[in-house]
Amino acid sequence: MPRPPIPLYLDDVVVLRKTHPCGGDVWRIVRLGADIGIRCVKCGRRVLIPRSALERDIKRFAERGPLAPTDPT
Ligand SMILES: [Zn+2]
Repeated sequence: MPRPPIPLYLDDVVVLRKTHPCGGDVWRIVRLGADIGIRCVKCGRRVLIPRSALERDIKRFAERGPLAPTDPT
């Protein structure tokens, strides 16, 4: 069953199910598009990943970027 797309913004920091070979699982979003550019916060390595794959791998948001809408609560 398809899930609605997760809104992603530049400089969002996400925790992924997939860990980088360096052991880090926290990534910052550095490029938006059909492929999303993410940078490993631990080692600084940059990776391109299809949006659908990234959405599947997101465990939670560690931090929202300045462009993300603020929670109205
Ligand atoms: Zn890394």
